[in-house]
This record gives sequence, structure tokens and C-alpha cells, in this order.
Amino acid sequence: MSKNNKKKHKKREEDDNDLKKLTKKELLHRAKKFSEQYCVGDNKNFTLRDKPTSYSIEDDNISVRKTLRMGVKALAAMQDILYAQDKWSVLIIFQAMDAAGKDGAIKHVMSGINPQGCQVSSFKGPSSEELDHDYLWRCQKHLPERGRIGIFNRSYYEEVLVVRVHEQILKGQKIPEKLINANIWENRFEDIRNFEKYLNRNGTVVIKFFLNVSKEEQKRRFIERVDNPDKNWKFSAADAKERGYWNDYMHAYEELIKNTSTKKSPWYVIPADDKSYARIAIASAIIHALDEMDLEYPKVSVEKIAELNEVKKALLEE
Ligand code: ATP
Ligand code: MG
Repeated sequence: MSKNNKKKHKKREEDDNDLKKLTKKELLHRAKKFSEQYCVGDNKNFTLRDKPTSYSIEDDNISVRKTLRMGVKALAAMQDILYAQDKWSVLIIFQAMDAAGKDGAIKHVMSGINPQGCQVSSFKGPSSEELDHDYLWRCQKHLPERGRIGIFNRSYYEEVLVVRVHEQILKGQKIPEKLINANIWENRFEDIRNFEKYLNRNGTVVIKFFLNVSKEEQKRRFIERVDNPDKNWKFSAADAKERGYWNDYMHAYEELIKNTSTKKSPWYVIPADDKSYARIAIASAIIHALDEMDLEYPKVSVEKIAELNEVKKALLEE
């Protein structure tokens, strides 16, 4: 083993030992502290300009690998209880500019989770059937069942993003002309706030992530998608064209986050230039949200326990 590898191996062993010592309470505390810095909550003075797109891992004393592994494990355990309890559900929304890492984040954060308890839905441009309905209709059909985690890869928030940036899309939505007025975006924010409040009141917790990638990093990733044949499929000229509207998108994101981030359904603005770091921050925020839900396995009645013991006795006597 080379000197460098030996060093790495030793560090990994140390990390593993640290990990074993970490109690559940400490882990939850770390997740809370770590994710809180990215939570917008109900801050009405939110501006995107102040939000970092990158973060130096050295600035934080939590090792990336360790935290992600710990986070994924904890998430899986919490999801098991959510599923067993079968009452609450969690809706996790991902929004971002192209190549910000939505797909990778979803894949990694959910990697330890029981697939039966998780549903991922991706939203592209609406079909003509979908355009024949109000814009929440197609999303409502994909809301998570009780006990499940639902992930939206893009969502009804596109209605105040791409639709706002390209107003011709709005004109194609078959909405009665007199309803398209100067208040339309404010109205949509209000509808979305009310919709999420309604979901909360029915047992669905909503968490929203904006993966905040810098324009420079997007450029680097786009070039990589052209240079690497295995990544060509991920890239299209349309993506590059959308990049030309960067400032309009940033304005739309800032407005929507300011207007739809609430205490109960907060936006998290995640620095996304470093993929590993972003994934840890996301996992931490989800763990924190699940912890706040005070989940517990369904209590079994005394009668039921007696019945189970009877069954066990019979099995042993067979
Ligand atoms: P990837 O590129 O990684 O596959 P993606 O989410 O970018 O993932 P695409 O098929 O490239 O998937 O893009 C989906 C497109 O659909 C985006 O440009 C998005 O803005 C657009 N879209 C989503 N919802 C709506 C909507 N309601 N109205 C119009 N366009 C929408
Ligand atoms: Mg795309």
C-alpha cells in the first residue's frame, strides 16, 4: 500500500470509529445544525445574491464521506417507521437550473431507502391532456400516499419559473385571457402557499430544495457533457439556449423562494457546485424534517402481544 493510501486507510478507520461512537441524538443534532444554515424558513427578506453556490468542505469539521453514509443510514431507518406508521407522508421537491445535479442528488440521497416506500415523479413540459386542466392537476396525481416519500424532479414550481421566463408558454396554456393579468405570479404564489398548507393539514410534510449552481460551474458541466460520449445523451442545444436566460431565471427563483418559503414548508437553498457537499446538505435537511415529525412504530396492544406469544408457543411446540 502506498504511503498516501495508508494515510487514507487510517483516516477511514478513524472515521468509522467515530461513527460507531455517534449516538442517534448527536446525529440528529448534527443534521439539524448542518441543514439549518441553508433553510430559508419564512424569511421575507430573502435574496439569492447572498447565497453561496460553493462551500469549502475544509471549512466544516464533519467529513463528507462519513456524514453522507451516516445520513443515508439514518434516513432509511426513519423511512421504515414512516412506512410502518402509514399516516404521514413526505413530499420532497427538487428545482434547479440544468446540470445542477438533481438526478444525482435524488439517486444518492435515496440510495438506502426501501423502494416500496418511495415514489419519484419527473415533470417535463405538459401534455395536451394536462393543459386541459389547472396546473396543479398533473402534480396532484403523483402526491405520495400515506407512509411514503414522494420526490418531485421539477414540479408545479415550473409554473412560476419557465412559464414566467417565457411568457409565450403562458399564452399557450388555454387560460381565459382576462385571468392573465399583472397579478398572475402573485396569485400563483398564493395558490401554491395555500396548496402546501392544505397538504400539511392533511399529513403531508413538504420540503423544497433549490440546487444553487453557479453559471461558471454549469458551463463546465455542459462542456463535460459534450466532451464525454457517455454524457452526450444528457445534453441538448435547448439546455444551452436556456442558459441565455440565466438572469431571468435567477429573478424568478428569488421571487418564488421569497414568496413560498414558509416555516412549515421551507425552501432550502443548497450550494450545488460541489456535488458531494450538496448531497450531504440535502440528506441532513430531510433527516431533520423527519425527526421533527416525531415518528414512532405503531404501538401494539396488550391483546395483540398475547396473541403473538400464543402463536410463537404453538410454533415452538410443532
Ligand atoms: P435531465 O435534463 O437531467 O434529463 P430535466 O429535468 O432537465 O432533466 P428535460 O426533459 O431536459 O428534463 O427538461 C424538462 C423541461 O420541461 C425543462 O426545460 C422544464 O423547464 C420544462 N417544464 C417542466 N414543467 C413545465 C411546465 N409546466 N411548462 C413548461 N415547461 C415545463
Ligand atoms: Mg434537461
